Amino acid sequence: MTQNYSTKDCFDGRQAECEWMVQTQLKSRDITNEAVINSMLTVPRHRYVKQDKQAFAYYDSALEIEAGQTISQPYIVALMAQALDLKASDKVLEIGTGSGYSAAILSRIALRIYTIERHSILAQLAKERFNIQGYDNIEVRVGDGTLGWSEKAPYDAILVTAGGPEIPDSLIRQLAPEGRLVIPVGNKEDQHLLRIKKTLNQELLEEDLGSVRFVPLIGTKGWS
Ligand code: SAM
Repeated sequence: MTQNYSTKDCFDGRQAECEWMVQTQLKSRDITNEAVINSMLTVPRHRYVKQDKQAFAYYDSALEIEAGQTISQPYIVALMAQALDLKASDKVLEIGTGSGYSAAILSRIALRIYTIERHSILAQLAKERFNIQGYDNIEVRVGDGTLGWSEKAPYDAILVTAGGPEIPDSLIRQLAPEGRLVIPVGNKEDQHLLRIKKTLNQELLEEDLGSVRFVPLIGTKGWS
C-alpha cells in the first residue's frame, strides 16, 4: 500500500517525461511492484540533478552529481526499492544519500527513512530538496554509513547505494528479524547486488540479484 502523503508538485511541466521513463525503463523490464511504480511517478527526478544535467534526468542512465558522485539509473533505483519489499509501516536505513533521489523514492512507500552520506555538501543539498517537496519523513546524517545508525535501529530494511568489499556486520546487527538488506558487493569496478533476509531465528538468507556497477563504499567497513 502506498503512503498517502500530500507533496508539492515540483514537476515543472515534466510529468510526461517521468511517465515515459516509468513505462519504457521500468514496466517494460521487471518492475511490477505497484508502490514502487507509483513512487517513481511521484518524485521529480530532474530536481535531484545539477542544472547542466537536468535535460537528461529522465534518461535510462546514471548521471554525475556534486562531489564526483552519481545519481543511480532510474531502473536500478526501482530494482533496489522493489527488492526491499517494503511495507507502509517500515523503518528504512539508507547508506549513500547522494542526490537524495532514492531516499525520496523510499519515503513515498515506507514510514520513515534514515539516510547517511559521507559528503556534507550532498547531505545539505538533499535536505534542501526534501524540504522544498515537503518530504518530512526523511532524516539525513553526515557520517560513515558502514557503521549504520545504531540509535535508530533496528530497521525493517537497509539499502546500501555504494559498492563495498563485504557485507558490514554492523548493518546485519541493525537489521530487524524478517528485515531485508540490499547491498552491492564486489570489487571497486563491478559488484553483485545481494539481498540478505534475516529470519525470525536470526538466520541469514542470501540471494544474488545480478551484476551492477556502483561508486565505492568508503569507510570503516568499506574501502579505505
Ligand atoms: N542514493 C543515491 C541517489 O539517489 O542519488 C545514489 C548515491 S551514489 C551511487 C552513492 C553515494 O554513497 C555517494 O554519494 C557516496 O558519497 C556515498 N557513500 C560512499 N561511502 C559512504 C559511506 N561509508 N557512508 C555514507 N555514504 C557513503
